[in-house]
Amino acid sequence: MLTLTERDKTLLWHPFTQEKTAKDIIGITRGSGSYLYDEAGREYIDLISSWWVNLHGHAHPEIANSICLQAKTLEHVIFAGYTHTPAVSLCENLGKLLPETLQRYFFSDNGSTAVEVALKMSFQYWRNLGNSKRKHFICLEGGYHGDTFGAMTVGQSSGFHNSFLDALSRVFAIPFPATWDNDLDVDRKESNSIKALESYLEVHGEEIVAIILEPLVQGASGMRMARPSFFEKVIKLVRSYDILVIFDEVMTGFGRTGTDFALHQICELPDFVCLSKGLTGGFLPLALTVTTDRVYSAFLSNEWRYAFAHGHSYTANPIACAAAVASLEILERPETRAAISSLSQAHRRGLDHLQSKCGFVRHTRVKGAISAFELTLNDPDSVKTMANLKYKFQESGLILRPLGNTVYLLPPYCTTLIDLENSYTKIASILEKI
Ligand SMILES: *Cc1c(COP(=O)(O)O)cnc(C)c1O
Repeated sequence: MLTLTERDKTLLWHPFTQEKTAKDIIGITRGSGSYLYDEAGREYIDLISSWWVNLHGHAHPEIANSICLQAKTLEHVIFAGYTHTPAVSLCENLGKLLPETLQRYFFSDNGSTAVEVALKMSFQYWRNLGNSKRKHFICLEGGYHGDTFGAMTVGQSSGFHNSFLDALSRVFAIPFPATWDNDLDVDRKESNSIKALESYLEVHGEEIVAIILEPLVQGASGMRMARPSFFEKVIKLVRSYDILVIFDEVMTGFGRTGTDFALHQICELPDFVCLSKGLTGGFLPLALTVTTDRVYSAFLSNEWRYAFAHGHSYTANPIACAAAVASLEILERPETRAAISSLSQAHRRGLDHLQSKCGFVRHTRVKGAISAFELTLNDPDSVKTMANLKYKFQESGLILRPLGNTVYLLPPYCTTLIDLENSYTKIASILEKI
């Protein structure tokens, strides 16, 4: 009998994969808590929450039950002209966590579409107000916002979309003042970024629709972190030109940075928040773009042309919404919040251990349940070494996917401290040997 890996190989084309050089992919048959099991019965600890979506562990019984019940009650209904309990309840419950000004919810079904919606809404907002001068977006260097064309446009400096640069309109990217533990240069980096923004805005401030940014942590460009005060300065400055502010919290949302949302650590509020990934606890695709009354009311008119003409077939799918309601309820439990802060402390101890064992571990940093560090490898084959590292981790039962020279851990909140400690010990012994 053929294995899953063999059956897959002749048929499937996997995402973000160089199919020619990638080693055999692994067939996963089941998951439980922080663990995944392959078809040979081997276990792996999922230290990246399956591409940052999982919150409370795999196959969580409460979320699974909620999905099952909803599937037997109402699996789907068109969301134009109709509504349903899971969608309304989800937004009511999210409303208790989000700022008072952000209480208008637009559904879609993945992170890229949540971003597209925010870009399109902000663009049309100015058109609806009769302002056609504002045409461009600003973003942060290294920002990643998804793989559709609009999302690629504002994420073109991430390096993920280089084959498409000719098809993308130009955007201005503010240098990102990435920082880490004991970084003595952070003030200078931040003031350089602000100066670059100031001089750009002096010329182009009136042409800008909105700024989009990943608050506190840039995920895909390598878990790059910046201080809250930097984001506050940026927002104050763009506000003085009436520019709208979009927070892409697709990765940072739902406790990942230590607070429910990254925006809770920043004193200036955005006009849009994009949510996906952790929204359903990692069970089903779903997304929300949340905005203000100010934006919403610009679309109200007796004329159709002012309406937001955008929607997806599976918008607000009831089963996905039911998963999200259940996941949010678990997130709000005191024990979940306590687990996130224990993970944060365990990351600190783990990074200390790594640094004491491996001299080439640099730029350690922790934000909430996320930890990251760089490997400064001197060998000329460092790109290959980094690429192989993923497989070395895998052979030791660790699911990790380094980004460039960055290794990061982003475990589900149910991960036990012992499992996390053991993972750091394994990582140290693998790194010691390279
Ligand atoms: C993953 C990600 C996206 C894209 O989400 P998809 O669901 O993969 O389309 C957008 N923004 C950020 C910050 C992300 O991390």
